[in-house]
Amino acid sequence: MMAPSMRSARPALSAWRRIPGPPRDLVRARLLRLYRGLLRRFGPQGWWPGRSPFEIAAGAILTQHTAWSQAARAVAALRARRLLTPRALAAAPEGVVAEAIRPAGTYRLKTRRLRGFTAWLLARFGGRFEGMRRAPLGPVRRELLAVPGLGPETVDAILLYAAGRPVFVADAYARRVLARHRLLARTADYETAREFVQAHLPSDPALFNELHALLVAVGKTYCRAIPLCAACPLRRDLAGRPPRL
Ligand code: SF4
Repeated sequence: MMAPSMRSARPALSAWRRIPGPPRDLVRARLLRLYRGLLRRFGPQGWWPGRSPFEIAAGAILTQHTAWSQAARAVAALRARRLLTPRALAAAPEGVVAEAIRPAGTYRLKTRRLRGFTAWLLARFGGRFEGMRRAPLGPVRRELLAVPGLGPETVDAILLYAAGRPVFVADAYARRVLARHRLLARTADYETAREFVQAHLPSDPALFNELHALLVAVGKTYCRAIPLCAACPLRRDLAGRPPRL
């Protein structure tokens, strides 16, 4: 038989007070459900293709306003000419770089952008990405945004995919899906969408990497100009309502 003193030391379960925790973030739960649904349907996307951080960054610049297949041809041409290191690219005559990246379109403009980024990387971090991985994120992002021709989408792709920083790339595919699911306003701009996702999800580069790639996949496959909701893996999140078009 249990001693009376021991019995009094252990209150009945009903006596425990419910301890209030932080409010549950329902948006976070939804975003993670969308993420898991996409991952089940499409699998890991393995972004961003590239043999080195500099090659990834070059690809992010070359794919501006261009299909990835065209940008990939330009990246391959730079690689064939051994120009995919910051020092080699900075030392190469402008005409040689321009000729190599011609398949990516607007090649003179992209040559200037590529060289501008390379000059910044050399001046700021000696051409190495280790420094970009360690530098305070806000200031380094602002510096990159000041490089001529680098907009927020390109900068964030470089930071996330080349430097492994926890920044979400809130491109048009992501904004369209989130707006159609009423998580964002239809008119939400890039920064609003990026801050929204970063505010609700853990600050995890691997998660932002995969989520961005998966949103592109669903955007290309189902969430087109006319959405194919009936077949889409995210249809349950609409909870029977039509997407907000
Ligand atoms: S196709 Fe429909 S269900 Fe799929 S992401 Fe777009 S709006 Fe959502």
